[in-house]
Amino acid sequence: MPDVAEILIPLALDTAYSYVVPEGLRLAEGDVVQVPLGPRETVGVVWGLAQTAGGSNLRPVTGRVDAPPLSEPLRRLVDWIARYTLAPKGSALAMVLRLPDEAAARETARVGVRVSGKAPTRATPARRKVLEAAADGALHGKSALAKAAGVSLSVVDGLIDDGALEAVAVEPEAVAPPPDPDHPRVPLSDAQEAAALELIAGPGKALASPGEGNARVSGSALQPVEPAAPGPVLLEGVTGSGKTEVYFEAVAHCVRAGRQALILMPEIALTAQFLDRFAARFGVRPAAWHSGVGGRRRERLRAAVAAGEARVVVGARSALFLPFRQLGLIVVDEEHESAYKQEDGVHYHARDMAVVRGRLEGCPVVLASATPSIESRVNAERGRYRHVRLPERFGGRRLPDIRAIDMRLDGPERGRFLSPPLINAIKANLAAGEQSLLFLNRRGYAPLTLCRACGHRYRCRNCSTWLVEHRFRKALVCHQCGYAEPRPQACTECGTFDNLTACGPGVERIAEEVSELFPDRRIIVLSSDFPGGAERLRMELDAVAAGECDIVVGTQLVAKGHNFPHLTLVGVLDADIGLTSGDPRAAERTFQLLQQVTGRAGRGERPGRALVQTYQPTHPVIAALLSGDAERFYAEEVAAREAAGLPPFGRLAALIVSAAEREAAEAQGQALARVAEPPPGAMVLGPAEAPLALVRGRYRFRLLVKTERNVDLQSYLRDWLARAPKPRGSVRVAVDVDPQSF
Ligand code: ADP
Ligand code: ZN
Repeated sequence: MPDVAEILIPLALDTAYSYVVPEGLRLAEGDVVQVPLGPRETVGVVWGLAQTAGGSNLRPVTGRVDAPPLSEPLRRLVDWIARYTLAPKGSALAMVLRLPDEAAARETARVGVRVSGKAPTRATPARRKVLEAAADGALHGKSALAKAAGVSLSVVDGLIDDGALEAVAVEPEAVAPPPDPDHPRVPLSDAQEAAALELIAGPGKALASPGEGNARVSGSALQPVEPAAPGPVLLEGVTGSGKTEVYFEAVAHCVRAGRQALILMPEIALTAQFLDRFAARFGVRPAAWHSGVGGRRRERLRAAVAAGEARVVVGARSALFLPFRQLGLIVVDEEHESAYKQEDGVHYHARDMAVVRGRLEGCPVVLASATPSIESRVNAERGRYRHVRLPERFGGRRLPDIRAIDMRLDGPERGRFLSPPLINAIKANLAAGEQSLLFLNRRGYAPLTLCRACGHRYRCRNCSTWLVEHRFRKALVCHQCGYAEPRPQACTECGTFDNLTACGPGVERIAEEVSELFPDRRIIVLSSDFPGGAERLRMELDAVAAGECDIVVGTQLVAKGHNFPHLTLVGVLDADIGLTSGDPRAAERTFQLLQQVTGRAGRGERPGRALVQTYQPTHPVIAALLSGDAERFYAEEVAAREAAGLPPFGRLAALIVSAAEREAAEAQGQALARVAEPPPGAMVLGPAEAPLALVRGRYRFRLLVKTERNVDLQSYLRDWLARAPKPRGSVRVAVDVDPQSF
C-alpha cells in the first residue's frame, strides 16, 4: 500500500495533485518537493498524506528540495487566502514560495564598488571626489560612496562605466547579531509606558501594579516573560505621539520571549531613517525585506527567518509570507495605507491577512496609525480589536495649527498655483531659517496637455487616461501603463507649432514656480518618478530629515511616516483633488492623507502650522481637518457607511471583466449578470464601464456585489462564477474581494 502525497504546485491551480511517495522517502506535510508535471519537473509542497489501497498509476515524487518546510500556520494561511480571495490555491502558494518581483530584485541586487587602478578617461571635480573617497581600496556601497563624496549616484555609475571603479557583487552578509531588547534607550513618557504595557499585557494591566518598578516595560525586570496577549490591537496615536517607540516595546517583549517579530510597512516608509531608529533602540539594524533585496541575499534571509535566526524583520507587504519559525508579533505600521492592498494577481489586503496570520500563529497583531481605516476603527469600537490610544504628541509638542486659504477670495495670479498668503508664510518661514513642505498629490508637470489651436487633448493610446507632461523627461507619460512619447514641437493633430498648453499643476510645475519665487533657496522635489530610483529617493529623504534643504515639493510620498524635525510649515496646494471622485472611500482617503501630511509639521523643537488651499472650506472633510476634530469625522463617516450598508457593515466584491475588444468584455459582463441570481441580502450591480475603462489596451467592465454581513460572499461568488460561461479568447474575469475603490 503506497503512501500518496497531495502536492500543491505554485501555479494557477485550484487543487493539489496526487503523487506516490517512493519507498524510502519519508515525507511530512509542508515539505518542499520536486515532482514531475507533464514533461517537466516542478517544485511543490506536501499538502496532505494518505494511504491508498491497491496499486495506482500515479507518478512518484522525485525527491525533497533543500528548502525550509512550510509550517502549519503558513499552509493554513495559503488555504485561507485562496478561500477568501477566490484566487487559485496554487497562486496563493506562489506568494509564499517564490515571492514576487524576484527577477526585478535580482537586477537591483546590491553591488559594492572599489577602485580598479585604471585612471578615468575624464576627471571632473565630482569624479575626483568619488575617487578620493574610495582611495582606501576597500569595497564601498554605491550610495554610501556617493554620499561620502557629496555627489549623485550617477557620478559613481559613470565611473563604473568608465572602468575607474569596478563593481563587485557583495556576498550575502551573515545575519546580523540579534536585536538586544535591553539595549540602553531613551526613557518612555508615562503615556507611552502605559500604552506599551497595555499593548503587551492586555487591558487593565497597566494599572495592576501602580508605581512598582517591575511593572514597567522599559527595564528588563519582566524576565522571564510570558508571550504578549494575542489578538489584534489598534494603536491609534496622533502624528508625533511616539507610536514607534511604543510598539518597539512590544517588539522587545517578543524578542525577550524568544520569538520573532515582523514589522510591516508601506514600501516607501522603509527608510534608512527607520532602520537607524530601530538600531538606536535595539543596538543593531533589523533584517529588511523589500523589492530591493535581491538574489542570494534574499535566499539567505529567507533561510535565516525559517531557522529563527532573523529575530526581527522589517518589510513591505510580501514579508507577510516569510516562513517564520516562531512568530510572536506582527506590527502593521500605517495600517490605513492603501499600498497594503495588492491589486493584481492575488488581490489581497496585507493588513487583513496579517490579522489572519496572527490568529493562525496565536500571536498579537498591532495595527498602528494616526488615521486608522474606518474598518479598524469600527472593529475597535465594537470590541473586536483592543484599542490603545496616544492622544497627545510626545514631549508636550503641539499638533500643527491648521488654517484654510479660501481660494475663491485669496487665489493666486493667473497661471500660478501658490496663493499670496501661502507665499508670505513661506517667506516668513525662510526668514526664520525653518523648512517648508509644499504638498500636491500629482506627479509630473501638468496633468493635461492640449493644443490651443485645435483643442486636441493628448491621451494614452492604451488607456482611458490623459497623458501627463513630465519636464524632467521631456515626455508625455501615462500614469496608468507607463506609455510615454516625446513632447511634440508641433501638435500631432493640426500641425501648429508651439501651441501646446500645460493645463493644471503637477509637482514639477510647483517646483518651477517656487524656484522662480525663491531663486537662491535649496529646493528638493520628491515624487516616485524622481530620477535615480529608490536608492536616490532614500538619500533625498534623509537629506530633508537632516535639514539640508529649505523647501520640499512633494507628492503623497512625503506625506507619510517620515520624521522631518526641521519642518514647521506645510502648504497643501489643492486639498480638493481627492474630494470630487465618486468613490465612497474618497472622503476617508482625503482626510487621512491631509491629516498625515499636515502632521509632518512641528515634530521637532519648534511648533508647526499648515495652510490648506481649498475652494470648499466648509466641506465636512476640510472642516474636520481644520477643527482637528477627527472623532466627529469618524462618527459621521461610520454612520454614513452603516446607512449605506457599505464595508465594514456590509460586504463588497468586484468582478472586473477585461478583454482586448470592448464588445467581448461587455458581452462577458452581461453573461455574468444574466446568471447572477443573488441570494437574499445580496445585490449585483452592473456591468458598467470600470472607472478606468481602458488599461494597457484592455477594455474593462465591472460588476459590483454588495451583500449584508451575514451572507457568505465567497460561496456565492464561487457558485456564480461556476454558472457563468467560461471566458474565451482574450477575456479575463478577475475577482477583487473588498475592493479599495468602488
Ligand atoms: P509617530 O509614529 O506617532 O508619529 P514617532 O514615534 O515618530 O511618532 O515619534 C515622534 C518623535 O518623538 C520622534 O522624533 C521621536 O524620536 C520622538 N520620541 C518619541 N518618543 C520618545 C521618547 N520616549 N524619548 C525621546 N524622544 C521620543
Ligand atoms: Zn496608458
